[in-house]
Amino acid sequence: MRFSRLRLTGFKSFVDPTDLIIADGLTGVVGPNGCGKSNLLEALRWVMGENRPTAMRGGGMEDVIFAGASSRPARNFAEVALHIDNSERLAPTGFNDTDALEIVRRITRDVGSAYKAAGKDVRARDVQMLFADASTGAHSPALVRQGQIAELINAKPKSRRRILEEAAGISGLYQRRHEAELKLKAAESNLSRVDDVIEQLA
Ligand code: ATP
Repeated sequence: MRFSRLRLTGFKSFVDPTDLIIADGLTGVVGPNGCGKSNLLEALRWVMGENRPTAMRGGGMEDVIFAGASSRPARNFAEVALHIDNSERLAPTGFNDTDALEIVRRITRDVGSAYKAAGKDVRARDVQMLFADASTGAHSPALVRQGQIAELINAKPKSRRRILEEAAGISGLYQRRHEAELKLKAAESNLSRVDDVIEQLA
């Protein structure tokens, strides 16, 4: 599973549709300060399901929509499409039928985000799990923000463990365990409520 193209439309400073081709080997992005290099990395995180506005350097999720400039009005939506080369069939089960896979996320003002994978509507969780199972995702340590190396050096051991878990390819399992624990807690609380009802009836 290899990322081959990122298409941004109305995302932050990329008001017109813009393609970033990710060819084999190293892709370098160079440009003057403020030209949008970090916005590209944020677009990649965002399409993989990032939901924290702070990770997008914004106050709210809608801040990723092009806010307008002196010569251009603001947009009503932002869209990022990630094109994945799956010719080696390495995508997780359920997404592994075709040579190419496209994940699209769109946010519309006052409506929120919608996701598509291979042309079908999917939930944010499906996209997050797809990338977690492929040992990547919005929180992947492979995506290095400015200042992140210093943060990592000062991080607590628990935060560093996440990086090892991702390298071991178990991030998806970790997320599923967390969800299973939440379900278990909900079931336990239901059981204790049933016990109360039985006691009252007895
Ligand atoms: P540096 O080299 O200084 O780190 P950079 O190339 O990484 O800069 P970015 O931080 O990616 O640049 O881009 C910042 C630019 O994006 C700013 O000009 C900012 O005004 C613009 N920008 C951010 N959000 C929006 C938005 N919602 N609408 C329009 N422009 C935006």
